Amino acid sequence: MPDTNDEIQHILTDIQSALRQERQLFGSTFYTDSLPPQKSPDQNAMASRKKAPVVETSANLFGFAPPMTTTPQEQLLPYPSEPWIGAKNLDELNSMICTCVKCPLGTTRIKFVFGVGNPNADIVFVGEAPGADEDAQGEPFVGRAGQLLNKILEAVQFKRDEVYICNILKCRPPSNRQPQPDEIDQCEPHLWKQLELLKPKIIVCLGRVAGQTLLRTTASLGELRGKVHSYRGIKLVVTYHPAALLRNPNWKKPTWEDVQWIRKMNDEMKTTGNPNPL
Ligand code: URA
Repeated sequence: MPDTNDEIQHILTDIQSALRQERQLFGSTFYTDSLPPQKSPDQNAMASRKKAPVVETSANLFGFAPPMTTTPQEQLLPYPSEPWIGAKNLDELNSMICTCVKCPLGTTRIKFVFGVGNPNADIVFVGEAPGADEDAQGEPFVGRAGQLLNKILEAVQFKRDEVYICNILKCRPPSNRQPQPDEIDQCEPHLWKQLELLKPKIIVCLGRVAGQTLLRTTASLGELRGKVHSYRGIKLVVTYHPAALLRNPNWKKPTWEDVQWIRKMNDEMKTTGNPNPL
């Protein structure tokens, strides 16, 4: 028979550590209410790209989860006919593409930044492109934005090594400029393959650029947040980039709402066993 006092003590300790975590991450304001998604001041910026591989659908942020529309086959771009399409696992894929020089970033990078985390992760976080720290270390999200991402993950009890983290571009754009359409067109198929091997249930796009790029849209972050989209048949949601939160603390509250919602969606998919094949 478990000791009730012990159990209560455990629960209190968990609550204390969750509150400490939340305060560290989001400050002393205790957010309890769910607000409708708000428009961010972020502007649009997706230059025209190849055909869209995506069909958007909607699920209310706080009401969660009508059925998804899947991406029609005819909208999917084919893989390029290159040897790596036959890669059997992530390590093999990495070793087959890590010398890529299909775009000029291949000649300016220090390290190719493939991705990191659990190869069986249910949830994949996708950023924009490596920055200086990532380029130096060969691992995504290891700089200041990465430290904040780790805290955001911990705040909803995700460990960094339990999820998978990668970027749309695997090489650093000079001076951290935004990815160019031709760089994305060359690099994004690597991400498709990575996702095909990972088979995640949820993709979380970190920031407007990642969201606009994968969804082939010019919609604002405010419009993209709070909806379940589809990327090649995988549920995709968009939230703020951690670097944006470092610049603007007002976006911490909506981010907190997003990550709680994502956590809930993840947990519900686990209990219902809802698979999400590519
Ligand atoms: N910003 C990104 O989008 N990706 C990283 O890996 C680091 C910073």
